[in-house]
Amino acid sequence: MDSVGVAAAAAPDAGPGPAWQSKCPWGAPNTTSISCSLADVMSEQLAKELQLEEENAAFPEVVAVAEGPFITGENIDTSSDLMLAQMLQMEFDREYDAQLRREEKKINGDSKVSISFENYRKVHPYDSDSSEDEVDWQDTRHDPYRADKPTTTPRRGFIGKGKDITTKHDEVVCGRKNTARMENFAPEFQVGDGIGMDLKLSNQVFNALKQHAYSEERRSARLHEKKEHSTAEKAVDPKTRLLLYKMVNAGMLETITGCISTGKESVVFHAYGGNATEDKVIPPECAIKVFKTTLNEFKNRDKYIKDDYRFKDRFSKLNPRKIIRMWAEKEMHNLTRMQNAGIPCPQVVILKKHVLVMSFIGKDQIPAPKLKDVTLGSEDMKKAYYQTLNMMQQLYRECNLVHADLSEYNMLWHDGKVWLIDVSQSVEPTHPHGLEFLFRDCRNVAQFFQKGGVAEALNERELFNAVSGLNITADNEVDFQAEIEALEKMNEDHVQNHGKKLSTFSSDGDPPIYDE
Ligand code: ADP
Ligand code: MN
Repeated sequence: MDSVGVAAAAAPDAGPGPAWQSKCPWGAPNTTSISCSLADVMSEQLAKELQLEEENAAFPEVVAVAEGPFITGENIDTSSDLMLAQMLQMEFDREYDAQLRREEKKINGDSKVSISFENYRKVHPYDSDSSEDEVDWQDTRHDPYRADKPTTTPRRGFIGKGKDITTKHDEVVCGRKNTARMENFAPEFQVGDGIGMDLKLSNQVFNALKQHAYSEERRSARLHEKKEHSTAEKAVDPKTRLLLYKMVNAGMLETITGCISTGKESVVFHAYGGNATEDKVIPPECAIKVFKTTLNEFKNRDKYIKDDYRFKDRFSKLNPRKIIRMWAEKEMHNLTRMQNAGIPCPQVVILKKHVLVMSFIGKDQIPAPKLKDVTLGSEDMKKAYYQTLNMMQQLYRECNLVHADLSEYNMLWHDGKVWLIDVSQSVEPTHPHGLEFLFRDCRNVAQFFQKGGVAEALNERELFNAVSGLNITADNEVDFQAEIEALEKMNEDHVQNHGKKLSTFSSDGDPPIYDE
């Protein structure tokens, strides 16, 4: 039997009425009409106001918990046409799949041989985003930025021999190269899916497309600029909303209740977890960290990632949007390392582009307080101190990481212990500035606990040695810092001379960084 036919014929009249009609995720149409005179209609002022109204609807200024759930299956904001269309499509696809399943069951009945329509499904769990630049590279081990290079033509301008000779002007080679180069166009620019196919573009078509892509890019940059200036930093953009909606739609999250924090670089939401799948248990409460795609805040973070050899090869090739995804990816990897070492920290649930879902530290929508906001009794304070010392050592020795933004702002107090969060900027100790970052962490921690009345708390220099296992003897801050920088420089020289890093700064005895 022709299952395509079955599927296609079955879709339109599914059951007594599509489920989405009752759920109506895009809400009721806005029926308010404004009556006004011709003069008003022609007024530029009015046009501006209407425009502003529209923009405000698309990008609400505040995402507040008090307003009720931020995203459920039903209430997502629907003022963007594109989003509406995508949601409609998604709902339709789900209906379609449900019908497909019914047909499959009907046909197979009790028969021993069964037919599967799996390949005709439109939605797959967690994978309902096949649109535009949504490649799920973050979940795989494969590094997409080390993609195969297109074969180049040597200087002499040809490869092969005799009748198999291929020159750089060869139509096929050229065409494929052109197609591959389309990938470098702005992500918003729709190039179709020629990249996945063996599509060959003629030079003429390629150049016309390129020209168009550039002007589109400029146009959209202008538009973006306008949007960013006219809306509060707090709101998440429509694309992110759609991504969040998809997570709810896929059943992974139950409800996104609201925002728990808006920082310069990220917005964090609380959500109730949805259904577990075969390979994933979703915690009952989740925190969703959305890394901001407004790029300006990330400029000054270059130094963390640029010099991190784990990301070195990729950095130069990435566009800013991808760099932001990389922060999310880094946070995920670092949390995983910490989890493996048994350090109390959020557990990673899933990463999608610049959105990281992890377990929620807190209860009933109330996030655990930061150490800076709790008043601990002296016993708890002491306990917190020793635990922090321990975690810093574990982080350094077992995870091979330096937090690099450790302070009472990124430590939560929950269940009678300290939890570490916010590790997107964490680096390995051999990072060119790793030891400086560690020293800064130590200063924050030492000062906090000393001010908090923990008599046993080591000072920043002692703490640094205790964590790193190094033995820097300088008795004042300036000299200490100079020695740290000297060590870092030595490591860098080693990299220059030997092409690789020392595996680690020593953790016991004399620093054998001096010898191999
Ligand atoms: P930022 O870079 O904005 O500082 P953080 O990761 O520190 O990002 O998150 C900001 C705030 O959100 C935290 O101070 C904390 O209050 C809250 N938060 C983040 N992750 C979690 C989590 N997993 N559970 C509970 N609260 C969280
Ligand atoms: Mn933080």
